[in-house]
Amino acid sequence: MSFSLKYGGKGNLWIGQFSVFPEDLFIHGVSTRHGGFSKGDFDSLNLGMHVNDGVLEVWENRSAFCEALEVEPSDLVTCEQVHGDNVVKVTREDAGKGACNYETAIKETDALITNERNLPLMLFFADCTPIMIADPVKKVIGVAHGGWKGTVSYIAIKTVGAMIREYGCKPEDMVASVGPAIGPCCYEVGDEVAEQFRKSFPEMEKEILAPSPEHKGKFQLNLWRCNELQLQSVGLKKENIDSAEVCTACNNKQFFSYRADKGKTGRIGALLCLR
Ligand SMILES: [Zn+2]
Repeated sequence: MSFSLKYGGKGNLWIGQFSVFPEDLFIHGVSTRHGGFSKGDFDSLNLGMHVNDGVLEVWENRSAFCEALEVEPSDLVTCEQVHGDNVVKVTREDAGKGACNYETAIKETDALITNERNLPLMLFFADCTPIMIADPVKKVIGVAHGGWKGTVSYIAIKTVGAMIREYGCKPEDMVASVGPAIGPCCYEVGDEVAEQFRKSFPEMEKEILAPSPEHKGKFQLNLWRCNELQLQSVGLKKENIDSAEVCTACNNKQFFSYRADKGKTGRIGALLCLR
């Protein structure tokens, strides 16, 4: 299994892809910050509509990314992303929600699932963890936004749970990816946040929290690992989880990073679509 950036396709863009998703069943990709139309802090492929970039530039960027993946940009389904744990099942009727403006995005939601074909789900990230899940047997997909709040609220587990409940998926059939996000190298948190993770995941503490080598009382938090372990804890096979282990803050020339860019930055997208 692997994650790699591939250059090319119709849009001549860099696209991050995981080998875990069967290409004949799913279209997927993670964008970078290169090859778009936005200027300044959003230079240049900003896909987020809620960050005070120009709506037209973001639409052009989304169109370019969708063209590279050969999906229809006006069908994109997006959600408001409020660092919550709400998972919403979407259907053809939701096509285009939030595609070309933020106001119509699905409200107060941080994960989307569907079994609808040709209905691209896309969520947006700058350091938070993109989680994509697919069931090649039942032909169901899900995309989730795992910042620290979503992660500590079990968003990965809840997304898998919704796929099981709504569509009868079996976790042992599922494949999943944990995308580029801020790594433990760059993600220090205070004891209050660390304590919430200890409480939510007592059995994971050693793997997700380490005392900061530089700052007393701070901890390095590993969101990649916490989301991988959540997926395993509900029955996904370890070998079916592909983790990029790419830190967006270390690599803020390639990706947008909220921390490394000091809050003024764009958003990459993670898109998953059932063929
Ligand atoms: Zn880093």
